[in-house]
Amino acid sequence: MIVKIFREPPIDNNNYLIIDEKTKEAALVDCSSVDTEIAKTIKDIGAELKYILLTHGHFDHVAGIRPTNAKIVMHNADLNELKKANQYLPMFGIPDITIPNVDIYVNDGDIIKLGETEIKVIHTPGHTPGGVCYYADGKLFSGDTIFRESVGRCDLEGGDFDQIVESIENKIFTLPDDTEIYPGHGKTTDVKWEREHNQFL
Ligand SMILES: [Zn+2]
Repeated sequence: MIVKIFREPPIDNNNYLIIDEKTKEAALVDCSSVDTEIAKTIKDIGAELKYILLTHGHFDHVAGIRPTNAKIVMHNADLNELKKANQYLPMFGIPDITIPNVDIYVNDGDIIKLGETEIKVIHTPGHTPGGVCYYADGKLFSGDTIFRESVGRCDLEGGDFDQIVESIENKIFTLPDDTEIYPGHGKTTDVKWEREHNQFL
């Protein structure tokens, strides 16, 4: 599995393009801006974008979604967040979006197949009720659940600090030590480092 990282304005969201090496099927984890570099990379590799995997419904993770053939994947408990995207986009100077239809609602334990790559859905509520992480090939795409030495904010609507702690301790810290964590903002980290250095936990 190949991972390409795109850092997107205006609030430095990380979008991750993951590509199954054999079949060149691709998925984009979160879609924060209409980034022609992402489209160019897909084209250069000869990949086919099959899925947009949303870690959650917050505006800054969905602002780049435009109609494509890719299936939109999300947990249904974040529909409320997704529907409210246009309330926040103008504050950051981002054009309104047409709220996308979710094609596939996922839940904890679901598997999404990207060619020969299996992507496991891990439901990690706390930042939002329907927040999920995607786990594939020893890598965890964690959205705003966990960051390097930090956690997602829980003071927004639907946030719950006890729940985010429970999610991280029971579902992320139980993954192998060397699991690489690719968060929604900031630098890449790993499970061992966070178990030892994340002061929020
Ligand atoms: Zn968020």
